[in-house]
Amino acid sequence: MKRLNLNSKIELFWWRLYNNAIPSNFLLAKRRISSFYGCPRCRELVEDNNHIGGQCVKIRKVIALLTEWGFYIPFYQCFEDCLEGLQKMIGREDLATNLYCTVICLVWKSRCKLIHTDKEDSDTSIAANDISYAVRRNFLNLQLENWDTNQLRLSTHWHPPPPGWIKINVDGILKMNCRAGVRGVARDDKGRFLLAFGNSLQHWDAAQTELCAVLFLKNVVKYWIFEAQGVIIEGDNKNIINLLQKSIKNWKDNRAIEDNLAFLLDFKQVILSYSSRSGNKLADICANLSLEGSFLWEDLLNNSIPPLFLHCLKEECDAIGRS
Ligand SMILES: [Zn+2]
Repeated sequence: MKRLNLNSKIELFWWRLYNNAIPSNFLLAKRRISSFYGCPRCRELVEDNNHIGGQCVKIRKVIALLTEWGFYIPFYQCFEDCLEGLQKMIGREDLATNLYCTVICLVWKSRCKLIHTDKEDSDTSIAANDISYAVRRNFLNLQLENWDTNQLRLSTHWHPPPPGWIKINVDGILKMNCRAGVRGVARDDKGRFLLAFGNSLQHWDAAQTELCAVLFLKNVVKYWIFEAQGVIIEGDNKNIINLLQKSIKNWKDNRAIEDNLAFLLDFKQVILSYSSRSGNKLADICANLSLEGSFLWEDLLNNSIPPLFLHCLKEECDAIGRS
């Protein structure tokens, strides 16, 4: 539990769950305090640790939402499998483990609210809260950091960020003659276009070019990005993750961050995420434009936006069912 680096309240909840100290209906019925064994939501299903730890329909709905936003979290059939699964993920998929443990706790809290007030938190608010909790524990989480070893888990399409968040897909391109370009596209949780940028530069190292794409963000950041609940910066180059990892480790250990990355601290929450090339399609489309010079599009009426960009934007928007 300690190694999971959970919020102290969530850690305490899991400690109680592990020690059969959560007053579930099953436990209350067993002690003859009540005669109803079931889950107040799922009714006919027994509310025991297996149910609270993963089987409840509410947990499934929240996890399905998180998956829709690109956070892959496992499902567990029973509590024993859950504990075993979490143990395997420690040190490998810290964000996913943290998200899972937090979901279970928040869903239980919402269940207690349901019993006492007859109302409960919506799936969306639990899922969004979950991400905030997990990110606060590990500033600048490197989502998918180790997941690239398992290609099946890597998303093959663009995922919208949680409500109130902004996702910025960044990319870099390097040609044989040291001509390089960086570009990025920002969208909201409904897949709506917010802005796109590109800039040409001289470079000779592919990983450094990708890093430049992230660094270039500070030139185009608008006030509304700081007001967003959080920002997910997504790229399709693993090297950039390795480079940023060092800076982040330094931030965690010494509270020191390089000047050129300091702007990331101004965002409310930041997640750096690694996606497959097909998840980064829109940024990819601007590749040649970014080699030719700089551009900044803040609305879709801009004449220099290529039709392919608009087509892809619409397609990805339709794919999440909110065009
Ligand atoms: Zn249930």
